[in-house]
Amino acid sequence: MGASCYFCSTGQGTPIPEKEPGDAIGVCRICHVLSCQAHGTRDKNVPRWVCVLCDATILTIAGVLQSDSEEIVAEAIEAVGAEFVAAARQVRSAQRYFAGRREDVWQRIVNTAQESSVAPLDRRIDRAFRTLWESLSDDGRLLIGSAVAMARVLNLPDEELVDVLQRARLGLGEYA
Ligand SMILES: [Zn+2]
Ligand SMILES: [Zn+2]
Repeated sequence: MGASCYFCSTGQGTPIPEKEPGDAIGVCRICHVLSCQAHGTRDKNVPRWVCVLCDATILTIAGVLQSDSEEIVAEAIEAVGAEFVAAARQVRSAQRYFAGRREDVWQRIVNTAQESSVAPLDRRIDRAFRTLWESLSDDGRLLIGSAVAMARVLNLPDEELVDVLQRARLGLGEYA
């Protein structure tokens, strides 16, 4: 009998399109859950296995690190584990992050993020996220937009996402 995938077992998150759920085949390098090939990705450059939740979180933190506000960056670093920050520091852009992946879905996610990065923010958005968004470079917006698009495509549950990603999901509204 194979090992169970955390996401398949708990019913969280829909599978990555084009990938079949099944036995767990990897341990996430950040949170150490087991995940199947439809709920995790092997990054050939690191090289390590990362689950879909930590994948979206790394993108989010990588985006925040591109803020030109030292205060915002310091707050974000304090709010999450050092493993996330270390992984996020390696990320330069959303395009480069997804470059080694074969499935079409990742390019679609970046394309969606490109639209959201130029769209006006939802009116319900809180001040903290607006301030963050306005302090970001284009690459930073694309990284966070990609994390939001990924959370939507894979139906990642809000309660499992870091605060800043939850707020981004709300703020980017219909584009996310
Ligand atoms: Zn799975
Ligand atoms: Zn993980």
